[in-house]
Amino acid sequence: MSVNTKLYEGKAKILYSTEDPEIFLADFKDDATAFNAQKRGTISGKGTINCSISSKLFLELELSGIKTHYIDSPAPNQMLVKAVKILPIEVVVRNIAAGSLCQQTGLQLGTVLKRPLVEFYYKNDQLGDPLLTLERLLLLELATEEQVRLITHLALQVNDFLIGFFEGCGITLVDFKLEFGVNSQQQILLADEISPDTCRLWDATENDPNLRVMDKDRFRRDLGNVENAYQEVLQRVLKAVDANN
Ligand code: UDP
Repeated sequence: MSVNTKLYEGKAKILYSTEDPEIFLADFKDDATAFNAQKRGTISGKGTINCSISSKLFLELELSGIKTHYIDSPAPNQMLVKAVKILPIEVVVRNIAAGSLCQQTGLQLGTVLKRPLVEFYYKNDQLGDPLLTLERLLLLELATEEQVRLITHLALQVNDFLIGFFEGCGITLVDFKLEFGVNSQQQILLADEISPDTCRLWDATENDPNLRVMDKDRFRRDLGNVENAYQEVLQRVLKAVDANN
């Protein structure tokens, strides 16, 4: 499929149009940013690793009945996706307290939540991606009430699936961020990526709070061995997918 123009360049991916208006091509980059792009760097091989992990997870989610934008991965760092308009909302699902939840509520890192927490953040770098209330989300017309209901339901379904999948990899799913898009038929599809950039993943057999980290917190907190951790997640995901099929 021939690639046409660059539509958008984000922090981790470049999106291109293709000859088919219903299909985009996402090119995953090695660039890494944190703290609203105040910290920048490169994680060598990240584009390929995140694209591979995301591709496998989207395929598994499709098999479990969740509609995603995934079509194919024509190269290790490239994903063909269904064209969608991304809703400007970051949907965060949490199973264990970490990150901004601890900073903003005083909950202790590692507190297991009684039930998953679904939160919405405004995808707006200039405003620093603030936490939204439902009323604010509706006020700003970022999505309709019906879309919010559906997205919440889908996010919890994705969480149920991913908790089990990662458990099979010896990984504890702490929290993660999802993005959803709307296609030309007004259907909501799971979009963006699911990777160590967008999830907190802890090695289930490791208790040391630094050694257990297998995600972007290694980059955010300068814990070292970032590439190794991402690569280890990929190897475990590939093994679990093989075992499932
Ligand atoms: N997250 C993300 N992109 C963002 C913000 C958060 O992928 O712009 C992910 C993050 O990796 C974590 C989860 O969403 O898995 C919750 O992040 P949190 O709100 O704790 O913010 P952080 O501590 O990353 O600032």
